[in-house]
Amino acid sequence: MQRLNVKQTQIRECIEKSLFAVDRLPPLQKGEILLLQLVKFEALQLGKLHSRIEFALLYDHYEVDHTGEISRQHWPMAGKTWRYILFCSGTIPTIPFSLEDLPLSTDYGGRTNPRTVSPKDEILILHYIWGKMTGYDLRDEFGPSLVRETIVNYDVIVEREKPRKIIVPEHEEFYRDPLLAESLKSIYDHRCQVCGMNFKIKYQEPFAETHHIHSLSKGGLDISKNIIVICPNHHRIIHKTDAKFDKTKLLYKYPNGLEERLLLSDHFGKKSFWV
Ligand SMILES: [Zn+2]
Repeated sequence: MQRLNVKQTQIRECIEKSLFAVDRLPPLQKGEILLLQLVKFEALQLGKLHSRIEFALLYDHYEVDHTGEISRQHWPMAGKTWRYILFCSGTIPTIPFSLEDLPLSTDYGGRTNPRTVSPKDEILILHYIWGKMTGYDLRDEFGPSLVRETIVNYDVIVEREKPRKIIVPEHEEFYRDPLLAESLKSIYDHRCQVCGMNFKIKYQEPFAETHHIHSLSKGGLDISKNIIVICPNHHRIIHKTDAKFDKTKLLYKYPNGLEERLLLSDHFGKKSFWV
């Protein structure tokens, strides 16, 4: 794991293109996690001192930028070029956090880029990386509002991708991230966003489904803004009647004219800082 210091003007390209640029190259392993950390004085200005890290890259390979062309292409306003470009296989969200807030063995401050994180400290940091924890574990550890922010950042990454198809024997399906669905359910405590039905209280069984508002087979994305946590009754009747969702009014409209406004809509309408 490496810590990368990034300026706000450069971070967006890093997140969107899964790229980074450095002048010094430590030994890097394919698949290694690179933490994108906002430089301290900017974090201070933006009120993000306790959320300097919100994304990480998965290292793949590097190229030497002999002429500076790649640097200029991606960071035209930086006023400098870098020796190495790190190409990563993907960008993943993290629970927003800052290294300074963790009980680490050393201070990872300073301008050194990249800075290698010790294996002992890496164990503490891994909790914050998307995919290491999910659903109630994630919510109990970090609280619903941090999980909501993480999910919104997750949308930022996925929105620039095309829906991914996966081929399973027999038929074709669209990829769904099970962690996203489970994390959304945990935010609502498995209650139906339409009627508030809570199976957990009545039957001691957390029981909820997730529904893609704009279906994946018709080009909808597997992002939180396109997903609703719903009870099985509402899930079936929405499919059966082909009810339409009104994103502005946050309600379902059925063909007979009935409208049902969402009782719970916490994760809609929250915008990421990064878009
Ligand atoms: Zn319901």
